[in-house]
Amino acid sequence: MKNSIKILLVDDDEEIRSMYAEIFKKEGFEVSEAVDGVDGLNKATKNIPEVIFTGIVMPTMDGFQLMEALKKSVATSSIPVVISSHLGREEDRKKAQELGAKEFLVRGFYTPNEVVEKIRAIFESKEYKLKFSATELDAKKIIQDAHFNENFKCSNCGAELILLIKPVNFQNSEFTTKFVCPKCDFKQK
Ligand SMILES: [Zn+2]
Repeated sequence: MKNSIKILLVDDDEEIRSMYAEIFKKEGFEVSEAVDGVDGLNKATKNIPEVIFTGIVMPTMDGFQLMEALKKSVATSSIPVVISSHLGREEDRKKAQELGAKEFLVRGFYTPNEVVEKIRAIFESKEYKLKFSATELDAKKIIQDAHFNENFKCSNCGAELILLIKPVNFQNSEFTTKFVCPKCDFKQK
């Protein structure tokens, strides 16, 4: 495990910011803080963080404008950004996705510790490959509904597909899954 991930916290709400700063420090992150988008852009340019955790609504430059500004410079364009949403508006979620945010976390939906885990997971990118039975339970239904080949063969090379699962939250046994080909790494849809 990587021991000290450099994170930049951007939020104009000092209370929220210092709460997260404390938690991330306790979890072994190297924390810097910025009070709004302009400050965040400045700090991200001077001392490039490995991840940015930012609010949306802020004076001078909001979280989305910050993301757009980060993309303009090669040095900062690939920094993963996690959005902390206060309102959880659907249009904000869409915008975050369009801009390539790694996560869109609605405040109150996740405990601060879950937020830390989600951000840590970006760096661990754990994934597991499982064998899938094409004959049991609802397998046939998936074949039909998703228009997969019969017998779950890769539509590119014909090898038997596997199920790739990635943890979202270990504590809740929450995973995302995807059918992939073990041979050609072809993602089925
Ligand atoms: Zn294949």
